[in-house]
Amino acid sequence: MAEIVFLGTSCAIPTPERNHPAIYFRYKEHRFLFDCGENVQRQMAIAKLSPMKIERIFITHLHGDHFFGLLGFIQSSYWREREKPLYIYGPKGIGEAVGHIMKLIDKHKPFDIITKEVPGGVVVDDKDFTVSAFPIVHNKPGFGYVFEEKERLHISEAKLRKIGLLPGKEYGLLKEGKEVAWKGKVLRPEDYVTHERGIKFAYTGDTMPCNATVKAAENADLLVHEASFAQDAADRAKEAMHSTARGAGKIAREANVKQLVLTHFSTRYKEKELDKLLQDAQKEFDNVILAKDFMRLEI
Ligand SMILES: [Zn+2]
Ligand SMILES: [Zn+2]
Repeated sequence: MAEIVFLGTSCAIPTPERNHPAIYFRYKEHRFLFDCGENVQRQMAIAKLSPMKIERIFITHLHGDHFFGLLGFIQSSYWREREKPLYIYGPKGIGEAVGHIMKLIDKHKPFDIITKEVPGGVVVDDKDFTVSAFPIVHNKPGFGYVFEEKERLHISEAKLRKIGLLPGKEYGLLKEGKEVAWKGKVLRPEDYVTHERGIKFAYTGDTMPCNATVKAAENADLLVHEASFAQDAADRAKEAMHSTARGAGKIAREANVKQLVLTHFSTRYKEKELDKLLQDAQKEFDNVILAKDFMRLEI
């Protein structure tokens, strides 16, 4: 199970209802941010989430609305005397951006900030999950991110006990997919171990609808796709290299995801007008909702 909290769902300009982009993500003891828009700390305070527990921040691209929150976030981490390291991932240039931030802030008690320019592919490989980056199509180079829980393995202890095999090293071997010799018989892993698919979450950041998202988000439990514009501004979306809601819906359908959440709405739409984005997306994909600041989802 993972929890997602939307901390900002506007585009370049914040509104009274919507802050700059940021998504809080919690899985087991891990806490991440995907994008880190300006004012993210206050959003976290309102949502009662601790910035000190964030271990990794994944920046999609270097447009200010997606990463200007890093300045305040890092400064406060010093003021709060953070001790645990902070990992920051992003496209080429993220190292330089963090370098500028470091020149501006007060640093009394040091802690490690590890910045990684991601080349794409797997960027974090933990025992329980991976986070990978896929290239987006926007007027600034960048990446969307996919969190994927590794397959969970269940070993049928009852079945093994029946043949007299108690938990021990043979259980480990079967879990590793190896055959085990037992009382003159060969035990095959497929007879005792079942694989359960883990959860999968994909976030695009800013992008035009593209095949890279379809591939990366394939069969995801949740796709958070930008939808800056409605269909009436399809030309504008193309020009600014953003997506329409309908374009995002099409990607969700092609990727066969379970649920689509639209975010990053242009301020040209008043709150009550956003329903038309939802209707546009529904022409392509049924299970879709509009993100709101502080909306929480579980997958
Ligand atoms: Zn943006
Ligand atoms: Zn952008």
